[in-house]
Amino acid sequence: MAKKPQNKMDQLVSLCKRRGYIFPSSEIYGGLTSCWDYGPLGAELKRNLKTFWWESMTSRRDDIEGLDAAILMHPKVWETSGHVEGFNDPMIDCKTCKSRYREDELEGKTRCPKCGNATLTDAKQFNLMFRTFMGPVEDSASIIYLRPETAQGIYVNFLNIKNSSRQKIPFGVAQIGKAFRNEITPGNFIFRTREFEQMEMQYFIHPSEDDKWFEYWKEQRMNWYLELGISKEKLRWHEHGPNDLAHYAKYAYDIEYEFPFGWKELEGVHNRTDFDLGRHQEATGKDMKYIDERFKEKFVPYIIETSAGCDRTLLTVLVDAYNEDPDRGEKSAVLKLSPKIAPIKAAIFPLVKKDGMPEIALKIYQELKTKFKVFYDAGGSVGRRYARMDEAGCPFCITVDGQTKEDDTVTVRDRDSMEQSRHKIAELLDYISERV
Ligand code: ATP
Repeated sequence: MAKKPQNKMDQLVSLCKRRGYIFPSSEIYGGLTSCWDYGPLGAELKRNLKTFWWESMTSRRDDIEGLDAAILMHPKVWETSGHVEGFNDPMIDCKTCKSRYREDELEGKTRCPKCGNATLTDAKQFNLMFRTFMGPVEDSASIIYLRPETAQGIYVNFLNIKNSSRQKIPFGVAQIGKAFRNEITPGNFIFRTREFEQMEMQYFIHPSEDDKWFEYWKEQRMNWYLELGISKEKLRWHEHGPNDLAHYAKYAYDIEYEFPFGWKELEGVHNRTDFDLGRHQEATGKDMKYIDERFKEKFVPYIIETSAGCDRTLLTVLVDAYNEDPDRGEKSAVLKLSPKIAPIKAAIFPLVKKDGMPEIALKIYQELKTKFKVFYDAGGSVGRRYARMDEAGCPFCITVDGQTKEDDTVTVRDRDSMEQSRHKIAELLDYISERV
């Protein structure tokens, strides 16, 4: 019988801990709400995901430059961007059970969904930015913010990048980095946290070409998730209506994924117009205009933004890859991660710990290790070793057996089909390279 949706999340959270993907933060102190640590496999998966994004959005393109801006920025940036005044979520408390809600979550209900009492407060505006102090004096003059989005780091560096890279419009700037939001209701594992990583790209264009580039980036970004191996039928577009359109956007679409807890935003593609550069120009007096030879005019560029969450994409990848397959025996879970991003690309086993098999297996391990992250395992039955690697999302298991000594071949077991095929040891490197 199919498992209940929430069950799937519980199973996934437990697998993530068991296999070293994701642990609760500061767990030995009881954990810290909404904070999570990436373990050995999680750190590897996150790194692979970021590389996959960086390569497709920056290194493989001629028109996009990379940036790594500081998390702490001049506090005026956040006044100019509108975050100090407007980055608020209306928050409602229950006076009886002290539960806290975002107003939109209550959908107009007048009773507390948890305790049922009609003791909800009026909505209060709550600013989502984390504040701290720069230097030893904790007064209002030393307040600074942990950035709530990476985008502003790109806008304030627009002139620096334009002048140093000599890019011509249209061109983009991509950045991966931490962002912080004091979310009222974090939750659903790593879906909504207070500290998270964004993968954002801002594309600077002539205003007359905004529709063309918006469509282009919508297509590129959807294809990126498909290339990552995410199920097509679980992805869809959601257009922001007038009520949920951000103050800076002319129009906006979200890529949504069908999580076990419903369809939710994965990434936003926004037409931010000349709002951001225009505002920074006004606040600093620096000329953000661009002289375009093609259009023979001076203008403040429009921006098409693609804004993805790294942790949210990682959750999507895990949810999408998670399968329970009774044919695999008692431990039936398997993570069918795309080999491109799988943390461990291959595992090497000697069938038994004798007859020279461990020596041959270790030699294969040493050779493959020069190219990929691989794992050597000689403990327990082969079935149990396969099960461990299925949960770790490892696409290939290589076993050295009795026949290996006779003809230099090994078996390669495919994680998804569970089929085994025999291959020459000398051909293994190519076999795996082609598939990852
Ligand atoms: P939501 O409506 O889910 O709060 P948002 O519309 O505020 O998201 P954006 O400001 O457009 O999100 O941020 C871009 C991306 O950053 C989101 O699509 C998401 O992937 C990621 N993101 C935003 N807030 C969080 C968070 N609290 N935890 C994890 N990822 C986040």
